[in-house]
Amino acid sequence: MDAIQEKLKIIAPATGERLGEIPATSVNEVDSFYHRSKTAFKQWSNLTMSERGKYLLRLKDIIVEQMEDIAKTIAADTGKVVTEALVADIMPTLDSIDHIIKHGEKILQRQRVKTPLLLIGKKSFIEYMPRGVVLVISPWNYPFQLAMVPMLSALASGYAVILKPSEVTPLVGKCMEGLFAEAGFPMGVVQVAHGGKEVGEAFTNGKPDYIFFTGSVRTGKIIQQVASKHLIPTTLELGGKDPMIVFADAHLERAAKGAVWAAFTNSGQVCMSAERLYVEKSIYPKFLSLLKKEILNLKQGNNEDDDVGSMTFPAQIEILRDQLEDALSKGARLETGLMPEKWNNGMFLPLIVVTNVNHDMKLIQEESFGPILPVIPFESEDEVISLANDTVYGLNASVWSNDPVKARRVSSRLVSGAVVINDAIISIAHHGLPFGGAKQSGIGRYHGDAGLRIFCHEKAIVEDIGRKKSEIHWYPYQGKYPLFLQLFKSYFQANRNWIIFSKIYLRILKKN
Ligand code: ADP
Repeated sequence: MDAIQEKLKIIAPATGERLGEIPATSVNEVDSFYHRSKTAFKQWSNLTMSERGKYLLRLKDIIVEQMEDIAKTIAADTGKVVTEALVADIMPTLDSIDHIIKHGEKILQRQRVKTPLLLIGKKSFIEYMPRGVVLVISPWNYPFQLAMVPMLSALASGYAVILKPSEVTPLVGKCMEGLFAEAGFPMGVVQVAHGGKEVGEAFTNGKPDYIFFTGSVRTGKIIQQVASKHLIPTTLELGGKDPMIVFADAHLERAAKGAVWAAFTNSGQVCMSAERLYVEKSIYPKFLSLLKKEILNLKQGNNEDDDVGSMTFPAQIEILRDQLEDALSKGARLETGLMPEKWNNGMFLPLIVVTNVNHDMKLIQEESFGPILPVIPFESEDEVISLANDTVYGLNASVWSNDPVKARRVSSRLVSGAVVINDAIISIAHHGLPFGGAKQSGIGRYHGDAGLRIFCHEKAIVEDIGRKKSEIHWYPYQGKYPLFLQLFKSYFQANRNWIIFSKIYLRILKKN
């Protein structure tokens, strides 16, 4: 590590104010981190779920108590408005604790499974066993929620956790570290490694037992390559280019308000934000004017009553500029906002609606992660489904219609980890539902039952009472082959013949 990387500078994106520095974790500390985690895992995994739950509840109380300070810290570090920090970072984290406490024990306890008749006399179970240490690598857009929820799920499952939060939002990383310390988690159960890509790389190479990564497709692929060298299981939560489909029979005012929120919340820096808006041709002009009207009502800034905050990561602005310039050069039309050369309000970007766009443009094919909403008219259900699916991503989608049969039919045909009907994004706030992507949006799921079980290795247990001297499939085989033929024919034929089956079974048994 060079001298510059030893400290992470904290600059508030909305104001440019320097908020301080945080010492970065040295890559030389990787081994000692893992050593502490492995030692802590032994004790932590031995606790019962309800004992681990007590620590989670203590953490929850502390978060509730400090809710306002945490929201302000998130807002300062990201540039998002404080309301979004509260609603979209803190609330889902608290709710995930409630969900884990309420359902965790049942989800992770030994499950009894029906035993097939051919294994007569035995009992079958599935057990969920934590593997050891999970490395959580988290991003900057929802720096609290997207670190906390996987951490809490892994902790509940019995893992020790090392978190590597995004270097873009180090203040939130530090804040989370402090919260776990205050909650009194046993030494080494939760450790936070601060730093950038190099620190992430070093910890990925440190051979954790599981990697939970949220971030870009590019980095996800790198992490998957490293993980594959050591066969480390991973969950990858990556990007999205989510379609929003508005049919003519939708509640148009609601859909327009929904579109504006889904496109511009968190300044569009959301993997599940509406990044492509498809509007049925017959209502296209009307819908466009409703959209514009809604946008006029929005206030940008970083005060309590503002709606849209600033961008978080400066490099993101250049990506947006490039995508928009490409679209404009190919004939796209700006309906709201400013041309890229007029973007001069620091980290605050104009709220942009673009029309006359097509699927050959970067703006439609690449993730934007910013306040840009391209709008495309469509004529038929088949056409819009094929347009919506014409992407390498598949994270979330929304369908807006007053016809539930049509909306469900369309949802079922979208290649997407989640679909929301007549609303957008909010499936992530439901901890009972699995969350994750299709195609390049990721591998694996969390939230829901899967969110606790993914971390564990699933162990199949078959139990025999052990009183019989032998089993029919054991040695000796002499004389059994023709009997097995008859046994399996009687068992698997269209009309199972129980009488023959039982007779043959007993004859095989006698051969033992
Ligand atoms: P984003 O565009 O959201 O910043 P990244 O994928 O670059 O997405 O970063 C997400 C997280 O991954 C951050 O915590 C970052 O430090 C970390 N990271 C970036 N590159 C690597 C890498 N090669 N190995 C491990 N972690 C990395």
